This record gives sequence, C-alpha cells and structure tokens, in this order.
Amino acid sequence: MKIKTVKTSLSNSYIIIDKDQNDNLCAVVIDPALELEEVLEFDVVMCLATHGHADHINNAKLICDHYQIPLFLHKDEAIYAKDDSFNLSHYVIQRPLAKVKDLNLLEDNQELTFLNHTLKVWHTPGHTKGSVMYLLDNHYLFSGDTVFKDAIGRTDLPGSSSKVMSNTLAKLAEIDSDYKVLPGHGMVTSFKEVKHQMEYWRRLL
Ligand SMILES: [Zn+2]
Ligand SMILES: [Zn+2]
Repeated sequence: MKIKTVKTSLSNSYIIIDKDQNDNLCAVVIDPALELEEVLEFDVVMCLATHGHADHINNAKLICDHYQIPLFLHKDEAIYAKDDSFNLSHYVIQRPLAKVKDLNLLEDNQELTFLNHTLKVWHTPGHTKGSVMYLLDNHYLFSGDTVFKDAIGRTDLPGSSSKVMSNTLAKLAEIDSDYKVLPGHGMVTSFKEVKHQMEYWRRLL
C-alpha cells in the first residue's frame, strides 16, 4: 500500500493506493480537492471527505461522476455538500460548488473496508458539525481540519462550535495510541505531538 499526498492550492488531498488480486491499481481518495487527471491511472473505488468545506470537496463531483461512486461523509455533514452557505464555496473557490447527488452518509465508529485495509470513522465535530477523521489500518490518521501540526481548525464558521471542538479535543486526549497524522492543511505530524498541545488549544477555545 502507498499513500500519496497531493498538496493543492486549496488543501491536502490523499490517495491510498494498493493492488487488488488481479494486480489492478485501486485507490481511495480522501478529500477530493485534487484534479481528476491526478487519479485517472487508478481505479478509484471510494471517495471520502473529512468534511464538506469547498476547499476539500471542490472536485468531488468530477471524480464521483467519472467513477460512478458516491461521496462519503458524515451524516451531519450532508448539509455542507448541499448548501453553499455552509461549504463556503463563494469564499473559497469563488463559484457555486458542483454538487454530488449520491452521498453515502457515515456514522461515528463505522468501519469501511478497502481491499484488506480498514478505515475507521471518528466523528470529531467542532470545525464543522460532521467533521470526521479516518483511521487507516490503526496507524494513519487523516485528521481533516480538526487538528493540524501546531494548530486546530477554525471554530468561527457556519456550523462550527468552540464548545463542541473543546469536547472533541478532550475525547481525543484520552486516546492512548500514537498515529501518523495526515492533516487537511500543512505538514504531517504525530498524534502524540497533537495530544501534547491539546490542553493549550482547549484553553484558547
Ligand atoms: Zn474546513
Ligand atoms: Zn480546509
């Protein structure tokens, strides 16, 4: 398995790539801000969003339509995929968001399967109502805009809540494992390092 990071001008997209039993290169896209051309060499079997802001899902429709797959996002995030006042498209991409019709709505703790890999869904609201992190094979944590290296996501946007974010951070702080954290913006970090700063961020909220 390989994880490819695509740093677009808007956010970080990730492609999880592995071969199926027939040696076809299959892929899962996390946060479809990247261009369709960048994944055409793969059989994209799932398209996941950490949340529904336009800087993370601006190319979701192109990719989902091409591969005839739904966009996966948390059930509380469906409104962001449908309503530009929530996904901030006019602010982020200066045009209406091209909407994906077929949404696959996720629940907290749901487990998704990609070949012989597992992706666990953690509902981590605060930055948005239905922000999630995806934990791949109990090792790689795609953290979206909930936590970054040396920062946390904004909580002053439509549907954001600093109180809810504080609760999310408190829950995360209780998790005793270390993971490689691949955030929605900026550089990779470790869950240990994120946890180290958690109390500091909670005091600022
Ligand atoms: Zn965001
Ligand atoms: Zn973002």
